[in-house]
Amino acid sequence: MKLGAMFSDVFRALFRRTATRKYPFERTPPPEHLRGKLYWDAEKCTGCCLCSKDCPANAIEVLTVNKANKRFIVRYHADRCTYCAQCVLSCPQHALHLSSNDWELANTDKQAFTFYYGDDADVESFLVKRAENSAEEV
Ligand code: SF4
Ligand code: SF4
Repeated sequence: MKLGAMFSDVFRALFRRTATRKYPFERTPPPEHLRGKLYWDAEKCTGCCLCSKDCPANAIEVLTVNKANKRFIVRYHADRCTYCAQCVLSCPQHALHLSSNDWELANTDKQAFTFYYGDDADVESFLVKRAENSAEEV
């Protein structure tokens, strides 16, 4: 490129509107059908496990707390999820959905990509048991 043409490009660019946004300070609303983080509705879930069986990425696990009382925990691995929505389609109870608002999931901590859904006390006792089991294995 000739120097004159380059300067003319630079000069014109000075008066042009910027093509980029100062994210995260400037945001545009996400598209209506954007597929973000997966959410689970405990009230609707029957524990059939179709979602986890059909997930191509092994990103969703249904853990049984009490089958008779239909109490389950769902462990969701956002770092494995491909946001394909197969689990949403497979769920006969419409207990799953991919949020169009909650999609900023980037993190430097791997743990932050694992989400537990369910009753807080159930999740807590599951995590305590898991920690005890892994301590016994050491
Ligand atoms: S959206 Fe796709 S990859 Fe993610 S949990 Fe559901 S089935 Fe698995
Ligand atoms: S497919 Fe639906 S009802 Fe069945 S375990 Fe998954 S979330 Fe629950």
